Amino acid sequence: MSLLKVGDLKVHFPVKPGMFRRAHQHVRAVDGVSFEVAPGETVGLVGESGCGKTTLARATIRLLKPTSGRVEFDGVDITTLGDRALRPMRRRFQMVFQDPYGSLNPRMTVESILGEAIDIHRLAPNAAVRRDRIAALLTDVGLDADHARRYPHEFSGGQRQRIGIARALAVEPRLLVCDEPVSALDVSVQAQIVNLLQDLQDRHGLAYLFVAHDLAVVRHISRRILVMYLGRVVESGEAACVCGDPKHPYTQALISAVPVVDPASKRVRIVLGGDVPSPINPPSGCPFHPRCPVAEARCRQEVPALREVASGRSVACHAVEVRGPGLGC
Ligand code: SF4
Repeated sequence: MSLLKVGDLKVHFPVKPGMFRRAHQHVRAVDGVSFEVAPGETVGLVGESGCGKTTLARATIRLLKPTSGRVEFDGVDITTLGDRALRPMRRRFQMVFQDPYGSLNPRMTVESILGEAIDIHRLAPNAAVRRDRIAALLTDVGLDADHARRYPHEFSGGQRQRIGIARALAVEPRLLVCDEPVSALDVSVQAQIVNLLQDLQDRHGLAYLFVAHDLAVVRHISRRILVMYLGRVVESGEAACVCGDPKHPYTQALISAVPVVDPASKRVRIVLGGDVPSPINPPSGCPFHPRCPVAEARCRQEVPALREVASGRSVACHAVEVRGPGLGC
């Protein structure tokens, strides 16, 4: 059974021409996305800036109210829950934010930051248990128990992200939504944080929804990948299949931009023309057609449905043939 099940989720933001005027247009930030995350699984969500992946991640754990669609966590539909009913559920899904500098209150010690989450959910019956829990959390993320008395500004960027992860773990969640958790860090520190997340997953059986624009990082950590473009999933499947044999022209362009270590590699970089179109007024037909190097006449008219083209592999493109269920990649 899935831990997280998202069905036809839409998040549209009204665009108001003035303070007292009615909205006639909407930003379709997320436009009918469906996916599942199994317990202990990592699903990567990748796409350029502005493709809707952060909005999707936030709506998935009700930091944003979706316009329509359904989000089930452990079989419970959380899209319609009120704040009071949602509060105990929040313990089971937590978020790790992109900015380790801005996401921690500079006036609070690490002990207060971690203790706040423990207190809200009443997870420590007394001060001694609370202290031990905070020390264990810091050790778990590779920090020293003595760091509890320090303030965020006394740590490096990587250490601050470790504190952010410890804060998320403080309430013993089952799912972490990681929103670009390493993109603000140096490359050497990025690897340490990704390794830490994998280690924590092995030890605690956590599931991750890992959001990033860097396909190399997403490929490294994810079992399955969803590729987003203009608020929709255009390709999904096993990470090895999507990265080893990308089907959608947009995924092919993303893969071609990942640096290759082997100097003998003959991979050709696909450079996409133009910018990502406005989600207020997306192009007709396939939203990718103005930038697609293989667009045909029908691409300007018909929206391609996300179809299963092989076992566990779905692509939204008229040009991709269906190989049939049961056939790998
Ligand atoms: Fe390109 Fe057409 Fe496929 Fe869209 S549907 S990705 S425009 S070939």
